[in-house]
Amino acid sequence: MTDARALAIEYLKQQRLLGGDSVVLPMASVTPGLRPGLENPTQKPESTPAVLNPGASPGKTQTGANNSGSDLPPLGLSFDPPSADLFATNPIQRANSLAEVAQLIAACRDCKLCDSRTNTVPGEGPATAKLVVVGEGPGRTEDETGRPFVGRAGELLTKILEAIQLPREQVFICNVVKCRPPENRLPQYDEIAACMPFLYRQIELVKPKVILAMGGTAAQSLLNTKQSLGALRNQIHRFRGIPLIVTYHPAALLRNPNWKRPTWDDVRIAARLLAA
Ligand code: URA
Repeated sequence: MTDARALAIEYLKQQRLLGGDSVVLPMASVTPGLRPGLENPTQKPESTPAVLNPGASPGKTQTGANNSGSDLPPLGLSFDPPSADLFATNPIQRANSLAEVAQLIAACRDCKLCDSRTNTVPGEGPATAKLVVVGEGPGRTEDETGRPFVGRAGELLTKILEAIQLPREQVFICNVVKCRPPENRLPQYDEIAACMPFLYRQIELVKPKVILAMGGTAAQSLLNTKQSLGALRNQIHRFRGIPLIVTYHPAALLRNPNWKRPTWDDVRIAARLLAA
């Protein structure tokens, strides 16, 4: 089979997976070597705006300006919680590796989710990952295995990442809460508040180029906002200056395949920012 034919087949598979039609991917994306989202192989990706809110004060969510002069979506919120400082006494802030953070999570008893968990699910992926994907919280399979996104939603996430040429192993994948909420209910406010310092430190250690927040819980927790997922989509937000894209949770896509197309649009924005 020729390369072009193999790529065309891959293209059609992605379209079926993502519920798209013939305009989901630019045709040029079947051209070998072309980065996702760029129509012309010689076209340079636009760089992301360097500073969203130069005057933003730490810890406050700010509304962004327009992302004018680019066909990227407009700038959105910016949330800048204080980073770990050199003299911190809090062990989470002092943790110097993802493994150390995972050890602290394993020992954590700061909220009631610890009573019903089988395993903690700290997250997985390389410390050098360019993309951090954040979900809501572990489900049954994740609780049993201690690994994030390994159930049906996880399989779909793996395919979504493959569609932007990102093997799952190159991505740091984690959740807002690191223990399974009973019966897969939404994590409660106090549980999220207890767990966020772990996520903050993980992001600080990985220093990704882009964050993909999947679902309302991840988006609202990382941006410190109550705005709906619908209102937060299709904007480039910032978490401590890192571009953050909001999209649907893979579990929601399994329930409502109509959201696959908009998810693909969101993921392509993330891919463009990664390639920039
Ligand atoms: N849903 C999530 O949000 N995270 C997982 O790890 C699995 C399912």
